[in-house]
Amino acid sequence: MSTLNIIPMRDWGLGLGDIVNISGPCSAESEEQVMATCQQVAAHDIHILRAGIWKPRTRPNSFEGVGTVGLKWLKAAGEATGLPVCVEVANVKHVYEALRTGIDILWIGARTTVNPFAVQEIADALEGVDIPVMVKNPVNPDLGLWIGAFERLHRAGITKMAGIHRGFSYHGDSPYRNLPHWEIPIELRRTHPQIPIICDPSHICGSRELLADVSQKALDLNFDGLMIESHITPEKALSDARQQVTPARLGEILSQLVHRQPGTDDPQFINQLELLREEIDRIDHRLIDILAERMVIAEQIGHYKRENNITIFQSGRWGEILQDRVGYGQPKGLSKDILTEILQMVHKESIRHQTRVMNATAEPAKKAK
Ligand code: PEP
Ligand code: MN
Repeated sequence: MSTLNIIPMRDWGLGLGDIVNISGPCSAESEEQVMATCQQVAAHDIHILRAGIWKPRTRPNSFEGVGTVGLKWLKAAGEATGLPVCVEVANVKHVYEALRTGIDILWIGARTTVNPFAVQEIADALEGVDIPVMVKNPVNPDLGLWIGAFERLHRAGITKMAGIHRGFSYHGDSPYRNLPHWEIPIELRRTHPQIPIICDPSHICGSRELLADVSQKALDLNFDGLMIESHITPEKALSDARQQVTPARLGEILSQLVHRQPGTDDPQFINQLELLREEIDRIDHRLIDILAERMVIAEQIGHYKRENNITIFQSGRWGEILQDRVGYGQPKGLSKDILTEILQMVHKESIRHQTRVMNATAEPAKKAK
């Protein structure tokens, strides 16, 4: 268990509660756009305002942010609404400019968390500064890098921290811009329960239509709030136009979310839940027994292929397995994506077992003492 000593958001001295919602434009574009967007979102359940000042774009020649001048637009919007403001910082210059303008909270973007050199430079620049820092997950699904960023900041004396889950890059097809990989923030919660985690459905979805579902899912997983991008005229936005929503739509999404309790003391509910959980425990053990049984067969196949000098992987067979199992599982209510992911993992483990059998050599000789 981690030893990070982290101050909860309600004690950051910024008037926050336990659930923290953040909104504002992907990018500050003009003084009027920042002010109008922020004033309108402040009418809803929003506790922190955001705006991107320096934009880390994947390709050059797209809008890369207005730069330093945008800081004072955001600061003014914060003063007009009475809400704290946050910006992304990606290097030491950004940190100094943001601190000089009196920005309340910094965040580290996904393309920065991925780079320990960059995170360390930001942490060094923050040594001795008492400012909250939120850390987005790295672009690749690597929990260690995410935790490493918290540790670097913590070593520099930062104790007001939160994570932002914004999904992960991938190759292939998906309705999402960045795959949520919910298991990663869930694992962060398990290993570091003291770190609040805010979900950023905007960068996960990449399109407005999916925002409500992903936001609800985040609440159902006990996230500590949402960061949703908003714009007075989203279709005209200079960055992330497809995923931004008007302040009015933001209000609608937030008001339709169902907030459920993380637990209860009701003994009847607890008993019933306990029974169902016991059932789940039994089924999980059965699943593991069946997997182990499958691996025994995989090893037998490995021996057989070894004797006949045949390669482990036959792509035709793998294609057939995928097609057959997805076809078998879908009518039972299992999604194609999840079935494919599970099968890929099972296949990977089978190959590991077969490889061990195929390449088994005599026991290595014991090392002399
Ligand atoms: C953003 O929040 O506008 C942004 C650039 O996000 P990310 O670092 O998640 O890509
Ligand atoms: Mn954005």
